[in-house]
Amino acid sequence: MNTLSVIHKTAADLRVEPNLLDYEKTRKTFTWEAARTELPGGGLNIAWETVERHTTGALRDKTAFRFLSATAPPRDLSYGDLSRLTNRFANVLRKLGVAKGERLFILAGRIPELYIAMLGSLKNGTVVSPLFSAFGPEPIATRVNLGQCKVLVTTDFLYLRKIEKWRETMPSLKHVLLIAEDDGQTNIPGTLDFASLMADASEAFEIEPTTAEDMALLHFTSGTTGMPKGAIHVHGAVVTHYVTGKYALDLHADDIYWCTADPGWVTGTSYGIIAPLLHGVTSIIDCEEFDAERWYRILQDEKVSVWYTAPTAIRMLMKAGAETTKQYSFPQLRFVASVGEPLNPEAVWWGKQVLGLPIHDNWWQTETGGIMIANTPAFDIKPGSMGRPLPGVEACIVRRNETTGEIEVIEEPNTDGELALRRGWPSIFRGYLNNEERYRKCFVDELYLTGDLARRDADGYFWFIGRADDIIKSAGHLIGPFEVESALMEHPAVAEAGVIGKPDPMIGEMVKAFVSLNKGYTESEALRRELLGHARKRLGAAVAPKEIAFLSSLPRTRSGKIMRRLLKARELGLPEGDTSTLEGGASA
Ligand code: AMP
Repeated sequence: MNTLSVIHKTAADLRVEPNLLDYEKTRKTFTWEAARTELPGGGLNIAWETVERHTTGALRDKTAFRFLSATAPPRDLSYGDLSRLTNRFANVLRKLGVAKGERLFILAGRIPELYIAMLGSLKNGTVVSPLFSAFGPEPIATRVNLGQCKVLVTTDFLYLRKIEKWRETMPSLKHVLLIAEDDGQTNIPGTLDFASLMADASEAFEIEPTTAEDMALLHFTSGTTGMPKGAIHVHGAVVTHYVTGKYALDLHADDIYWCTADPGWVTGTSYGIIAPLLHGVTSIIDCEEFDAERWYRILQDEKVSVWYTAPTAIRMLMKAGAETTKQYSFPQLRFVASVGEPLNPEAVWWGKQVLGLPIHDNWWQTETGGIMIANTPAFDIKPGSMGRPLPGVEACIVRRNETTGEIEVIEEPNTDGELALRRGWPSIFRGYLNNEERYRKCFVDELYLTGDLARRDADGYFWFIGRADDIIKSAGHLIGPFEVESALMEHPAVAEAGVIGKPDPMIGEMVKAFVSLNKGYTESEALRRELLGHARKRLGAAVAPKEIAFLSSLPRTRSGKIMRRLLKARELGLPEGDTSTLEGGASA
């Protein structure tokens, strides 16, 4: 181990005894069967394990969620409140005739109703899919149709802006439940008022019996070649959420915990809702967008002890400068973790210098359902590394043998290859909705192939290299180039479009599009702006390209696929690599 690049932990770094104290021993003795027995319900229903079982015990009056907003005083919901409100919502669904297994989507900011609707649906056995509220109408409609969504919970503001005009393109949608935002109106034809339905519903509800294998959550993730994929997650995933909340986030009962991720993405659900409730902690939820001063104030005033955030946010805090940080102090903060994109070593060290704590990177993805590889409190950090596999997780590096075509595990340390995980942890996805073939392709025997390139060093630490495919990671959000290209192609001027992730020091990658134009259109600044506006309107700010460049034609393979890899290499001035499949030959 190169000691210069290692942050050694000492007893002084540990304000409480870490849940994962002896890594090697715990890994040897750990079994998922034993972990399951730590949950009183055996992990058969997420809502029971997260909410219901706490309501007869000491946690009943403890704050589960504290919602912060810039315009209203904080609103606290206790575990008891959550139980009553989620029972009401489950009764609302039952009354509407929404059955177990049917799909409910939520499109809302981080408001209490989102959390109530999600947990209430799980009580009813209804499958939930949270959508990111910054999506535009097109990504919303695609997902609603793929998921055959029957009920949509949203706000009047989002409904009017993103759904109403497109509603007839979503035939599965039977009920829309509207939450009045600020002084909003919910008497919109074709919709129901969330508040009145809740007021009329009973507070008594018997949870619908579910098994560990029943579908609970549908999280959409991006693909390279097609429309988004709906990753299926089951109730039994809750065992992983419990174990990883314990070992990777080191949650202790008296923690004040803040996960900054939006539930529209998997982290905001698994670790913004499920894991903290399982551990009976109080979670802070900020309804506002990022603001450096506001975030420091929250850490300070709410006395946050465990903070789970993302590299883009950390880089933005770094940019805000030390003077800003100095105005605040965080004596309660004891553990900081980050996920979603590579965390640069400078950010880890910045944490140590400025917050007094290094940032602990961890790795997972929508398909894994929970944290797989992590830096945990008791262990030395190698800044730049994602850490080591958690107990119950077997990770390895694999490569396809060029002669036999077989996938082989590479035992040699420090060798680049694809990161793979041995099947067996409870939260692994159970399929891509209606896409069995794509799902099967992710597995070779018992190995799940992650699509990420990585290497493992001699000490067992994993280092991220990049994606094996063209998927873009921008501000922590996965974006499928195909979805962006399709939206651009809908504009009459665009003949073809190719979309890449262009490295960006702040948000990791920025979405950049290359387009060629149809006959009769000529490139101009006005057309570029029009295309940017067109994409933004359809896709929403989170997905739309930030830059568009015109090309006379796009490089394609002989089979007609746009070579995004080549567009990227040219953009970055890198070697073009193997161009033998390029249309027109290698010299084209
Ligand atoms: P998602 O499914 O949206 O959660 O995105 C998962 C992908 O994000 C992974 O496959 C990685 O490409 C990337 N990712 C997640 N965590 C990390 C990390 N700690 N370091 C580097 N990349 C990460």
